[in-house]
Amino acid sequence: MSSSDPESSDPQNIEDMMDINEDADDYAQHLSKPSVSVASSVYELLECPVCLNAMYPPIHQCSNGHTLCSGCKSRVFNKCPTCRHELGNIRCLALEKVAASLELPCKYQNFGCNGIYPYYCKLKHESLCVYRPYNCPYAGSDCTVVGDIPHLVSHLKDDHKVDMHNGSSFNHRYVRSNPDEVENATWMLTVFSCFGQYFCLHFEAFQMAMAPVYTAFLRFMGDESEAKNYSYSLEVGGNGRKIIWQGVPRSIRDSHKKVRDSYDGLVVHRNMALFFSGGGDSRELKLKVTGKIWKEQ
Ligand SMILES: [Zn+2]
Ligand SMILES: [Zn+2]
Ligand SMILES: [Zn+2]
Ligand SMILES: [Zn+2]
Repeated sequence: MSSSDPESSDPQNIEDMMDINEDADDYAQHLSKPSVSVASSVYELLECPVCLNAMYPPIHQCSNGHTLCSGCKSRVFNKCPTCRHELGNIRCLALEKVAASLELPCKYQNFGCNGIYPYYCKLKHESLCVYRPYNCPYAGSDCTVVGDIPHLVSHLKDDHKVDMHNGSSFNHRYVRSNPDEVENATWMLTVFSCFGQYFCLHFEAFQMAMAPVYTAFLRFMGDESEAKNYSYSLEVGGNGRKIIWQGVPRSIRDSHKKVRDSYDGLVVHRNMALFFSGGGDSRELKLKVTGKIWKEQ
């Protein structure tokens, strides 16, 4: 039946034609190997009906054949969540074997990953995939935004109102009229754009063993392998004293808290900070931090 056939305007006929086409498509897909549609329907079978996570061996099933992941099995008191029958201890070896033969694209395909992985390797790859989105590097709130670097840069600018600077050197001033009043994690974030990359300068005060501590460190908006190509220095001083920190920016893959708690940055104790501010009698905190970022050869 050609499309110029006047009969084809009849809705019933059009439906029939579409059915035929679908069958033909299905047939073509069965012939091509590996078939994407077969793989994805098996993949759906491998989704635990309870927690909806992908199932890994041992995959369990009830005597009626309902499947369940091992994590959920230990939580359902030996009752199949689907049919309420006793669960017993039946493993679904067939499904485990089918899973082993499956190859699937990385879930970060939309972010640019072209990798295809065996089912049991996919999860491990995805946890390390360089295309996996980054978490928002903003600290101090539980922001759940994720994305690639350009997306996060505009998110920091638009939603967190973060100061953005072009250039590889900076001057940062931190002033507090009463340095005793340091709530946990009083912090600032500035983003620097240089060498075609973005860097987050974190500056914060936090309470440690009853006394405030000030810390500043740099994070690279990208992966650790690239972060290693850069170095930075931070200098804080005044009143005839100064300390200099030189370090390697940490990737934003490492959380802000992880970097802070590892002391991988400039750390200034309160008494020292008061000296820098103009002597031991000063009650006002005035920290002047200068720094620069450079690319290692
Ligand atoms: Zn489950
Ligand atoms: Zn069942
Ligand atoms: Zn990937
Ligand atoms: Zn955010």
